[in-house]
Amino acid sequence: MQECKFTDRCCFFRKYRDGRALMWQALIRDYCQGTLHHRCERRQFYLETGECAPAHLIPSGEITGVLLDLS
Ligand code: SF4
Repeated sequence: MQECKFTDRCCFFRKYRDGRALMWQALIRDYCQGTLHHRCERRQFYLETGECAPAHLIPSGEITGVLLDLS
């Protein structure tokens, strides 16, 4: 199976899966629905803590200058 198994409970995926911005589309495609989900930093955080990762962390592990809106 190629898709990340946490899409049904992932706050990032729920919020950004329908986002129009190319950056979100690329992350969803490559990480959440692609083979890079094994390297997702948000997934790693969830596996270690059982919690949704902080709002500054995107799947690639980059710290963005803008906090994600995960509400
Ligand atoms: S952000 Fe990470 S944990 Fe969440 S669905 Fe995408 S690959 Fe999985």
